[in-house]
Amino acid sequence: MDMTETKQLSSLKFFAKRYARANRITQRQALDLIAGQLGFTNWAKLITATKRDWIPSPDQMANIEAFVALPAAAFRAGRPEAMTRQFAYLEQAEDGVIGDHAYRLQVILHDVVMAGDGWTIKVPENPGAPPIVETSAGNDGKCAVLNPEFLKKALSIARDRAAQVRGEISTDWPRRSTKPDKDGVVRHPLWGSDSDIWFCLHCDGKITGRQIAQNLWHCPGCGASPPDIFDTAFWCEDAGASLGPVKTDSAVNRSETEFRVVDDRPKLDLNEEKIVLLMRSALLDDATNISEKLGALHAEISVDNENDVWISLEEDLWPHNKEPTQVLIVAAQLGLEVELETMWSAIPFAWPGLGELTTSTSEFTQMMLDAYAQYGGSPDKKPKESECGCDQP
Ligand SMILES: [Zn+2]
Repeated sequence: MDMTETKQLSSLKFFAKRYARANRITQRQALDLIAGQLGFTNWAKLITATKRDWIPSPDQMANIEAFVALPAAAFRAGRPEAMTRQFAYLEQAEDGVIGDHAYRLQVILHDVVMAGDGWTIKVPENPGAPPIVETSAGNDGKCAVLNPEFLKKALSIARDRAAQVRGEISTDWPRRSTKPDKDGVVRHPLWGSDSDIWFCLHCDGKITGRQIAQNLWHCPGCGASPPDIFDTAFWCEDAGASLGPVKTDSAVNRSETEFRVVDDRPKLDLNEEKIVLLMRSALLDDATNISEKLGALHAEISVDNENDVWISLEEDLWPHNKEPTQVLIVAAQLGLEVELETMWSAIPFAWPGLGELTTSTSEFTQMMLDAYAQYGGSPDKKPKESECGCDQP
């Protein structure tokens, strides 16, 4: 690179800095925008071109200078074809629209996730992984992303953002992590070790330095992320000497988009917790007084491996012969068998018969307090039992 090229590059960088400040975008976004104005997909591509002796013409430099001088508001009134790219960058930080369809763009753990009504597009951090388009089940093929024109626009926005995220990642890493030396040696961006051969903890693949750098430290075989890549296969007895080269599926077109239909309608997972909740609710339906209500709340309910429900009812809180009919109905609805048993446990209040006299918790509470006041002893002495509570004041 001669002096002229250096000067032009540094002018472009200067313009980018000014533009970034004026439009409240990052310097990297501004560099990519300027590269876009010069016909490159991003700044890295422009740099690559300058190494192959490309330099912007004086006309192009003048255009860029005019471009960065425009206030952001002018873009909105400007020629759409020339402004699409910066528009995209200015808009896509949060929400945007394609035609009449609103979308939201987010970067989640280095993956770009774009979401609209009934669809999401995910462009993974891993450059070797295809974008994933998900649509909800049951939208009858009316989803915006099923329109190829719309999908193309949406994908290009999501991909541009992903390129920017990957650019930011590489900028944060040591240069040796993304650029192998002449022997193919690269530096792990997290561990800092140097090697020309790497191993994937996930699929046991042996990966060359060039492969792993090109793939931004994701396994080209299984897509495992940088923390799963090591310079020795410490989990193998021979440290990986016997492991074969990573299997990459050459039949997979990397630029292809993967479509998935997601059934996001609510699904019933009848686990033990939910069965117990329904059973207790049915027991409460069966309870005709406070004593039985307490019995329902106090019952031990469990579900065994055969989906049989075991209900243990406290003898003093549930009449011995009373069949919980609502419980049996609900169990039948769920296809469950019910086993009832009686237990004798520590009951919460003395004189359980008091609860049989009322269906009101406040009334019961008052009777219970009065009974303790009248017949109760000091805390270390058990109150005298009164079977039915008929001797109430
Ligand atoms: Zn792998």
